Amino acid sequence: MPPEDSFFQQVNLNFDRAAQFTDYPPGLLEQVKICNSVCHMTFPLERDDGEIEVIHAWRAEHSHHKQPTKGGVRYSTLVNEDEVIALAALMTYKCTIVDVPFGGAKGGVQIDTKNYSTAELERITRRYTYELIQKNFIGPGIDVPAPDYGTGEREMAWIADTYKSFTPDKLEGLACVTGKPMELGGIQGRTAATGRGVYFGIREACGFSEDMKVLGLTPGLEGKSVVIQGFGNVGYHSAKFLEEGGAVIVGLADMTGAIYNPKGLGVEEVFEHRTEKDSLLDFPGATNLPSLTDILEQECDILIPAALENQITGENASRIKAKIIAEAANGPTTPEGDEILRAKGVWVIPDVYLNAGGVTISYFEWLKNLSHVRFGQLERRFEENRDRNLLKAMEDVSGQQFSKTERDRLAHGATEEDLVEAALEETMVTAYDEIRRESKALGEAADLRTAAMVLAIHKIAGSYIQLGIFP
Ligand code: GLU
Repeated sequence: MPPEDSFFQQVNLNFDRAAQFTDYPPGLLEQVKICNSVCHMTFPLERDDGEIEVIHAWRAEHSHHKQPTKGGVRYSTLVNEDEVIALAALMTYKCTIVDVPFGGAKGGVQIDTKNYSTAELERITRRYTYELIQKNFIGPGIDVPAPDYGTGEREMAWIADTYKSFTPDKLEGLACVTGKPMELGGIQGRTAATGRGVYFGIREACGFSEDMKVLGLTPGLEGKSVVIQGFGNVGYHSAKFLEEGGAVIVGLADMTGAIYNPKGLGVEEVFEHRTEKDSLLDFPGATNLPSLTDILEQECDILIPAALENQITGENASRIKAKIIAEAANGPTTPEGDEILRAKGVWVIPDVYLNAGGVTISYFEWLKNLSHVRFGQLERRFEENRDRNLLKAMEDVSGQQFSKTERDRLAHGATEEDLVEAALEETMVTAYDEIRRESKALGEAADLRTAAMVLAIHKIAGSYIQLGIFP
């Protein structure tokens, strides 16, 4: 087996496969595919013991066909320029597929967070933000970071605070980053958003009885066995929502180990077990597996890679038993792995669609920061009062009374959480249906990934054509 390509080359192989279904001129396709700007920064970190260490960091802005550009910041020793560019490209396609009006970007700092104190991580994050400001790689209308692997609300708060301190007169300054804590301009539901989006996407895919029949599965989520590689924010929330939706989580894995029980694990119990023992291993009733990748080959209906890229490859794809692969991570399947899965008839729900829940809710957070008003703030009480008046009129006409529970359920103004959740569901359902329709229209050769990429190419190429840049 030849060595697999670099991550960006792999993304471009998927692009080229989809481009064959379009007839745009080669130059236009090259412009859609290329990464517009990438910045490699190095800066000194003073460690707590006084030693100086050089830190390597990047930010790539893949496409400016829409602005600002948008994408997470990852802290990992595996971060490098190729990875950041590839992930930025995936962000471009992802935003386009779910109609979120951003170009794609991604950032990364090449560190293992476990080796640094909180104070050191804060210094790294603030200095990284300062470098981004100096290079014009951050701003509400320029490029807007967000959490990714190894970062979360805390880092986003440091980024927002640093940006604000350099631009104190910028009224919309908080919109320079998303995934912030609620107290600092965050939005309800952002933390759970990617996992919730994964759930909506899988639920929609499993809802088509003719597709499930081809796979030998019954329609719906009820009773479907699910294995998840990754039990961080995305893996945990995907597991939680799928379990609540009737699926049975039979396998879980993270850096601390992998466990499997065909009878089901119980997501909250596993979460508590890991918190207590600092490891997934030795969970009561489950079998410990030798490694993180062994989890991929376990018996299940749905396999969800929710960790890092390059997990399902030419080497292990033939041993995968799942009928559906739902890509919650970015780039978990290499093109060689993908080809084998296609030949086996496995239904792959692609990353460029399935993990778009995070950026979708980031978009609402950005809008909230720009408008300085919480979603639902203007209309919630008005809607509730109107509904109550309506119920009262119905009671007067019918002579019957609604119970308090009925009244509370029927007369309910939408909160920010309600609106954001409904908007996420709408986004994920609509996009899935569009991708599925496209794949049917393209015929047998087009899997869901190819169909999603074809849609992305049409939308991005279309915007260049509208700009008059290409005939
Ligand atoms: N890191 C997330 C992703 O890969 C979030 C991006 C965002 O919210 O901008 O989609």
